[in-house]
Amino acid sequence: MTTPSHLERLNPEQRAAIETTEGPLLVLAGAGTGKTRVLTTRFAHILLSHRAKSWQVLTVTFTNKAAREMRERITSILGEPAEGLWLGTFHSICARMLRRHAEYVGLTSNFLILDTDDQLRLIKQVVQPWRIDVKRWPLNGLMGIIQRWKDRGLTPDTISPADNTDYADGHARAIYAAYQARLRELNVCDFGDLMLHVVEILRTRPDVLTQYQRLFRYILVDEYQDTNTIQYLWLRLLARREGEPANICCVGDDDQSIYSWRGAEVENILRFEKDFPGAKIVRLERNYRSTAQILGAAAGLIAHNEGRLGKTLRPGRDDAQGDLVHIVGVWDSDAEAREVCSRIERLRRDDHPLGEFAILVRAGFQTRAFEERLVQTGIPYRIVGGLRFYERAEIRDAIAYMRVLVNPADDLAFERVVNVPKRGVGTAALQKMHVEARGQHASLSVALAFLLKSGGFRGKAAEKLNAFQECFETQRALLAKEGHVVAVGNLLEESGYLGMWRDDKAPDAPGRLENLKELIRALADFSTLSEFLEHVSLVMESEGTNEDQKVSIMTLHGAKGLEFDTVFLPGWEEGVFPSQRTLDESGDKGVEEERRLAYVGITRARYRATILHAANRRIYANWQESMPSRFLDELPDEYVDREGETATRQARQDYSGIFRTSVFSDDVTSSMSPLVARRRSSVNDELAANTSKIEIGSRVFHQKFGYGVVVDADRGSAEVVFEKAGSKRVMASYLQPASE
Ligand code: ATP
Ligand code: MG
Repeated sequence: MTTPSHLERLNPEQRAAIETTEGPLLVLAGAGTGKTRVLTTRFAHILLSHRAKSWQVLTVTFTNKAAREMRERITSILGEPAEGLWLGTFHSICARMLRRHAEYVGLTSNFLILDTDDQLRLIKQVVQPWRIDVKRWPLNGLMGIIQRWKDRGLTPDTISPADNTDYADGHARAIYAAYQARLRELNVCDFGDLMLHVVEILRTRPDVLTQYQRLFRYILVDEYQDTNTIQYLWLRLLARREGEPANICCVGDDDQSIYSWRGAEVENILRFEKDFPGAKIVRLERNYRSTAQILGAAAGLIAHNEGRLGKTLRPGRDDAQGDLVHIVGVWDSDAEAREVCSRIERLRRDDHPLGEFAILVRAGFQTRAFEERLVQTGIPYRIVGGLRFYERAEIRDAIAYMRVLVNPADDLAFERVVNVPKRGVGTAALQKMHVEARGQHASLSVALAFLLKSGGFRGKAAEKLNAFQECFETQRALLAKEGHVVAVGNLLEESGYLGMWRDDKAPDAPGRLENLKELIRALADFSTLSEFLEHVSLVMESEGTNEDQKVSIMTLHGAKGLEFDTVFLPGWEEGVFPSQRTLDESGDKGVEEERRLAYVGITRARYRATILHAANRRIYANWQESMPSRFLDELPDEYVDREGETATRQARQDYSGIFRTSVFSDDVTSSMSPLVARRRSSVNDELAANTSKIEIGSRVFHQKFGYGVVVDADRGSAEVVFEKAGSKRVMASYLQPASE
């Protein structure tokens, strides 16, 4: 018998996973082993073997992008677009279901889906009767709690006393109930409701449940390791036929579970066999994506996690031999961006298409340096799953503040910030300023000053607006004396703008604060504020060119499931990656999740992976040394090339000789923690050894800051008064004794 064409070029395990169409099946396999490909081919196989029609297969993906790609793959296998597909994210599929049965949960089919701003506005109305102290219990936090409850499938009635929190004086559950009631009255629902309502309908309406159980002859789920409780409940309800477990096929990789912060439960994958008795498990071991070196590095890294299911991963490509994974140490984030761009340029000259490059960052703030360098060198890029740095709301606000600072007559900028944070300026107040400005042929700022003097505003609003005007004046006066970095920092602080984000308990608020810090950091590269603002408008202007002719920049989270020829992984430093927030909030568990994220990052690469770490990061206008990420130590030596070692490490070697390469060539398969501990302590010893060479009072040279005198030295760091840069605390290993 000849092999049908859609089953060609598959290995026996993949074929088994595709052809075992009946009954529950779990494909548990590492990155790049063809899990998604198995799902896609399985879909085609079900159709081509006439087991079901295209609308009788339910396919769940994790992102809309993944859904689009899968649709394309299915179309190409079938040779024509498939009709009426139930293919999409959990939320998009549930939205479609809910429209059909909205009346069962007290909505009509034309219900609206609220965005987060609307949700917040609504919550604000709803909490009124409780007189919640919103300073103490910000409403965003309340919204977060409600969302988590929804992720866990908890309705106000099913929350146990143990699940309730002290938040909002213990009223969170009652507020949740009132919020749900209000949503219903308005015929709207929030994002979390899409799943919650559908699960409720499936639970309470056996007729509806049976209808879907019959409809979906086959269920396919990608990235199963990242399903949360409500998604899991939904799948369990649907995946039955006449009391029997249905034909459900889930594919996943416990090592790639990276969404626990959003309620994902990796346990779902662990209990698959229990939930679906008679389940078959298929393991795929050949990786067809990456070179042997990339795989070896990734496998060595993830081996440091405990409590793994454990999987074998072997290179499966014919051309699996490739370059070592590069680890490049650079001086600072600008150097990091320069390094990445010059590598891209070199490869581009050899005809590597730009669409095959990705820069994967841990946090949004990291994109700025890359964006600027890419613009400077004329390399088109796109930010996938997010906005470009200077398009982000908080950055635009901050830039509007700067524009008013340099030019009080900039009305557009003025209007953007006059009520951010809230200063009681509504439409009427703004109207008043406009009328005044027109009458006087003056700017809004002048009009406001006049109105404030003449009593045009009263009470709280007047007070706040006065303060608003004053902080611009104060900082304008300071600008020449203290410099623009200080002035802008003060302005954003004193205007209450930074405080607004600090008080904001929304999950994205800390990221926004990081972006703002990065912005202030960037200012230091320019000698004046006007120069900086002109630079920003130039960066913003560059656009155009074909979508796939661009370098992709995205977060590691957003890169899940994707692949690129060349991947750059910048910012592998303690505090950036693993991120400080995770270290602080989730300890060892958090480190394991960050390590999985690192594993996801490395395994996105087909041919080339380059990891970078900077020895210095600038925090505001100050420099801070950073420690290379612990993950770098965990990459097995045989697969990586550390030729571009950091200045840090070289300096350490130069000084002490303790840090020999032999430290790195230990057997990586042995338990690592003692090894890492040993390595860390040798670093400390060596730093101590180095410090003794740096004497208080001695003259030293520092590559970045120039000549200076040591005034204090302690445990590897030294305080130096530099001739040009002033007093700074730096790592002793960066200092060289300087002759007079
Ligand atoms: P991830 O865990 O990152 O989501 P995955 O397991 O879903 O990865 P796929 O994206 O399906 O892996 O496949 C990785 C790459 O390997 C794809 O380019 C795919 O086309 C290719 N591939 C999969 N199976 C084979 C095979 N049998 N022969 C050749 N190439 C294959
Ligand atoms: Mg996949």
